[in-house]
Amino acid sequence: MPATDPILTNSMPRAAALVHAVARLRTARLARSSKPFLARGGPRGERCPGCRLVPTHCLCALRPALPVRAGVCLVMADIEPLKPSNTGWLVADVVTDTFAFGWARTSVDTALLALLRDEQWQPYLVFPQAFVDGGRVVTTVQATRNKRPLFVLLDATWPEARKMFRKSPYLDKLPVLSLQSQQASNYKLRRSQQSSHFCTSEVAALCLALAGEPVAAQTLASYLDVFTQHYLLAKQQLPVDRSSPAHQHLISLQANRYGCKQLLIQE
Ligand SMILES: [Zn+2]
Repeated sequence: MPATDPILTNSMPRAAALVHAVARLRTARLARSSKPFLARGGPRGERCPGCRLVPTHCLCALRPALPVRAGVCLVMADIEPLKPSNTGWLVADVVTDTFAFGWARTSVDTALLALLRDEQWQPYLVFPQAFVDGGRVVTTVQATRNKRPLFVLLDATWPEARKMFRKSPYLDKLPVLSLQSQQASNYKLRRSQQSSHFCTSEVAALCLALAGEPVAAQTLASYLDVFTQHYLLAKQQLPVDRSSPAHQHLISLQANRYGCKQLLIQE
């Protein structure tokens, strides 16, 4: 990676650097910047290249490893890859086949067009039903042997996402997967969250559940919980509690997958 990425100019081990699609997009976006990006209110100083957090709050050892059949295609608003709080990064950590492209109103990456045409994928554009012509809307994911689902997510603020939806003609032919309000509210209830909007990794988790991959869905949701804790505690300069229920849950999901209970943290 070019030395223009300040995250890579610190002393963290090179091996810790993830080179997934969002990390690459971030590096490319930084290379085009004339001045360093400073997230408002975010912690300053050295960051881990693998998780973007300060080293004392590094999340890398908790990054889940599991097979995921579905793919995710993130179409990201210009500034999203630079935000330390962007959760598309977490999707790329968990879903091996995550693709990421920057969005622009007047041009489109030919690699994105090729991906959407690729026969191995069945793309679904994920967007709320209320804003879409009814004929395009689907609410379930068709399981087929030959095609894996590819969830196309507009990773942006809500006003940006609406603009991207309207001004991306190459997305017009895709079926639109709308998350049902019942499914969404059950999810909210389980996670005790009040916000009416989902973040990108929450949407991806709901999509994985619809694709019949409940373990991947739970793992991504649990990983977001742990990331949120690390991120907020770093901002408040408070230590991470690695025995918290969120950590225990994520670790137990991984331990159950490998059938080795001894991996669970013992208090
Ligand atoms: Zn890290």
